[in-house]
Amino acid sequence: MKRKPRILILGAGYGGMMTASRLSKQLGYNDAEIILVNKHNYHYQTTWLHEPAAGTLHHDRTRMRIDSVIDTNKVKFIKDVVQEIKASDKKVILEGHGELEYDYLVIGLGSEPETFGIPGVEENAFSIRSVNSVRQIREHIEYMFASYNNSEIKHDDYLTFIVAGAGFTGIEFVGELTERIPELCKEYDIDRSKVKILSVEAAPTALPGFDPELVEYAMNLLESRGVEFKISTPIKEVTKDGVILATGEEIKSKTVVWTTGVRGSSILDKSGFETMRGRIKVEKDMRAPGHEDIFIIGDCALIINEEINRPYPPTAQIAIQQSYTVAKNVKALLTGSKELEEFTPDIKGTVASLGGGEAIGIVGTKKLYGSSAATMKKIIDNRYLFLLGGIPLVVKKGKLNLFS
Ligand code: FAD
Ligand code: NAD
Repeated sequence: MKRKPRILILGAGYGGMMTASRLSKQLGYNDAEIILVNKHNYHYQTTWLHEPAAGTLHHDRTRMRIDSVIDTNKVKFIKDVVQEIKASDKKVILEGHGELEYDYLVIGLGSEPETFGIPGVEENAFSIRSVNSVRQIREHIEYMFASYNNSEIKHDDYLTFIVAGAGFTGIEFVGELTERIPELCKEYDIDRSKVKILSVEAAPTALPGFDPELVEYAMNLLESRGVEFKISTPIKEVTKDGVILATGEEIKSKTVVWTTGVRGSSILDKSGFETMRGRIKVEKDMRAPGHEDIFIIGDCALIINEEINRPYPPTAQIAIQQSYTVAKNVKALLTGSKELEEFTPDIKGTVASLGGGEAIGIVGTKKLYGSSAATMKKIIDNRYLFLLGGIPLVVKKGKLNLFS
């Protein structure tokens, strides 16, 4: 008996989960076999990770079992780590399950921290990239507070927290730290004035390229909560004792959190695809150039904003939108159609949280500040849960208290 065409989806992030969900709704049981592979048996919301990293939200709130969200009658889930894609053989190599063949492949393996080859980052800095990585950051911060108190000599570097890069991830994490640090000071009987939070940014401003009025609001607010910004200050090395700035100055710290941007999954380079900062510049229909059966989604895909001739920043917003086009196009290929949809991002805006019930953002043409922006952020978070799992998932995992 001829086997059903196999659609293999790699990565259960925003792009992979939404593609699996769309395809399971659009295809009948006999149309195709859909397999989703992910290294954990849970899906997590990358966009929330700054919160468990600082300890302002439990990490379990950001994750959900994959089989509790997808239709397991239509999508087979395999928990495994993708090691390599052999496009010429139409196979994927998995760590535990060996080789898996496909007819159509969707690659949504997300991103990895961009180190720019700066010495010491990989060995000495933390990064906000997964449930495991943020759990480690939270525990390390708590350990630093406990260790400071428990040693005869007072090590100031234990209470100096450096966040490298004041892009959206860095700023959102710093915002959460300003909420968490006072709690830890109370818990460990440490005076708040002993703790330093440094946001170190290479560009001449935090959040480069974002609306200057909103950036000023964010920086003033964070400074009022004790954050020290070091702007126009590239970090050139991370050591086990702290960071070395381009000026040669050393800042001692036992906690450096690296948030200087992302690059696409290293699996793409390893598998021989042509990439730019680890991302594949996709065709308009989201396929990898030269590969009629491979779609790229989310942070692995590079698409150009033709108005400014620069890549769109990789975001969940775009990954989710891409899933609609990718699912539609996979279905079109299955039915023998050559008419594929072209993907055009529809950027609704950007909202970034600042902790403590505050945020900044632009939605449409409207600027939002403070608590109204924070409410908008929760609505955006809940909207994704609704798209993925309907009202039950919003009730289970959503941020239901919109106004605090
Ligand atoms: P991801 O959601 O990262 O998922 C990738 C999946 O692949 C993961 O489940 C991972 O475990 C799995 N995986 C990776 N490698 C392997 C492997 N080898 N084998 C098997 N599985 C693997 N964007 C916004 O639009 N709005 C926001 O407010 C926002 N906030 C953010 C806040 C933070 C703190 C961060 C870090 C990012 C934020 N982003 C935001 C960006 C957004 O999170 C990413 O663009 C989005 O997660 C990309 O989705 P994805 O599906 O490509 O990858
Ligand atoms: P980013 O590229 O947005 O910011 C990285 C920052 O690090 C930049 O400001 C850069 O100038 C700085 N930097 C680079 N090298 C440095 C060095 N050596 N020393 C000091 N500073 C240095 O990356 P990100 O903040 O990690 O975000 C990754 C992606 O996720 C982006 O596309 C972003 O838009 C998205 N994101 C969105 C949100 C949101 O919408 N709320 C939140 C977080 C992340």
